[in-house]
Amino acid sequence: MKALDELTFDNRFARLGDAFSTHVLPEPLDVPRLVVASEAAMALLDLDPAVAETPVFAELFGGHKLWAEAEPRAMVYSGHQFGGYTPQLGDGRGLLLGEVYNQAGEHWDLHLKGAGMTPYSRMGDGRAVLRSSIREFLASEALHALGIPSSRALCVIGSDTPVWREKQERGAMVLRMAPSHIRFGHFEYFYYTKKPEQQAQLAEHVLNLHYPECREQPEPYLAMFRQIVERNAELIAKWQAYGFCHGVMNTDNMSILGITFDFGPFAFLDDFDAHFICNHSDHEGRYSFSNQVPIGQWNLSALAQALTPFISVDALKEALGLYLPLYQANYLDLMRRRLGLTTAEDDDQQLVERLLKLMQNSGVDYTLFFRRLGDESAALAVARLRDDFVDLAGFDAWAEQYKARVERDGEYSEEQRRARMHAVNPLYILRNYLAQNAIVAAESGDYSEVRRLHEVLSRPFEEQAGMEQYAQRPPDWGKHLEISCSS
Ligand code: AMP
Ligand code: MG
Repeated sequence: MKALDELTFDNRFARLGDAFSTHVLPEPLDVPRLVVASEAAMALLDLDPAVAETPVFAELFGGHKLWAEAEPRAMVYSGHQFGGYTPQLGDGRGLLLGEVYNQAGEHWDLHLKGAGMTPYSRMGDGRAVLRSSIREFLASEALHALGIPSSRALCVIGSDTPVWREKQERGAMVLRMAPSHIRFGHFEYFYYTKKPEQQAQLAEHVLNLHYPECREQPEPYLAMFRQIVERNAELIAKWQAYGFCHGVMNTDNMSILGITFDFGPFAFLDDFDAHFICNHSDHEGRYSFSNQVPIGQWNLSALAQALTPFISVDALKEALGLYLPLYQANYLDLMRRRLGLTTAEDDDQQLVERLLKLMQNSGVDYTLFFRRLGDESAALAVARLRDDFVDLAGFDAWAEQYKARVERDGEYSEEQRRARMHAVNPLYILRNYLAQNAIVAAESGDYSEVRRLHEVLSRPFEEQAGMEQYAQRPPDWGKHLEISCSS
């Protein structure tokens, strides 16, 4: 276990030089205080969890203090936003403080979001509000606990600093961690600004640090792009299987590592709805729940375009062709497991699609359905779940098909079925209304709810005593919350 001043830095991105990032100091928050910290994220830095409660913790992550070895930098990138190219973006309200490596030799970027203005702030104030910082913190850690790759969050620091959005709010910072903060948009930036040398430098950097095994391949850059395609196909399969809607899948929000990145108006589905749009500014539904699948491919094509100086167009196209089949295989595998199946049959895809259509038409809660399906034998579970469906004849027909399929799958006891299904079907997910309750309490200075919710979501598959209220469908007020984009 380490104390805060014992972190070891190795600032590899900063060493790329001024064409990649600009030195900027964090702008401190007034009266910084700990809102919530993640013990699991602290463990990744070998930090003793007790240090979160010390004043220096809030000072460090509230922008007042810096380690001597930190080199805060605002990174430059660009990206396709809602389909159109924006030539220059960058860390407008966040700084890469530095890269820390732990005792296991893993490197973690420390990125302080809400750290004030940078050369890339455009019209913004460089700040983040408490509301959005809490949402990012909870989502990062909850996704990780579900087994969905994501950037992590070490803590949220609240403050008295006034920040104007639709109304006056309070500034906050969230300390984000990831093995890299490089986005598709980094490659696009150097491609469209026609800086081949820097682009090659960036490609070498990513290859050496994050895809070193690709060095052994005859075409290392192509091998790396293939892996990026694979990781994104796997990631999006997980989003779809667990009902996560990102909301702003612009290429500047897509990680080169295939992890969930840059949280805005995201949401987990309550009722299953393939057409769900969590971002209220997304009038066309470009980033609706079901569109995440083709958009994943669209974004990879945008990255492929930026890699044309290194890889032939034919090879890029071939690699892009891996995306859909890989997505489908991963998705179907997850959905089979969610249904309690251990074998594969040709009709499984259709079994899943039929179920989702029925759930869509009846507005069935996506998370609770699968959890309850595993509570007892297939026959008893479908008999109990039947009441949630409007189209009873349709459901009965599906239930017959499902029961027969379960029977063919193999013989196992109710306990075995439950253990296997509960291990993949969470009881607790970050429903928007739960986050909202925690935010309202935190805005009035009570951080107990955000801490409790974080705790519950860190073990989503385990039924926790006295936490029934976190495993319910949303109340009426919590069903269609408009999550503001002004974060
Ligand atoms: P996002 O929608 O969070 O992915 O942000 C898109 C771009 O806007 C990024 O370059 C951000 O750094 C920038 N940005 C978002 N909010 C602010 C803000 N409050 N101040 C400065 N820049 C911001
Ligand atoms: Mg972003």
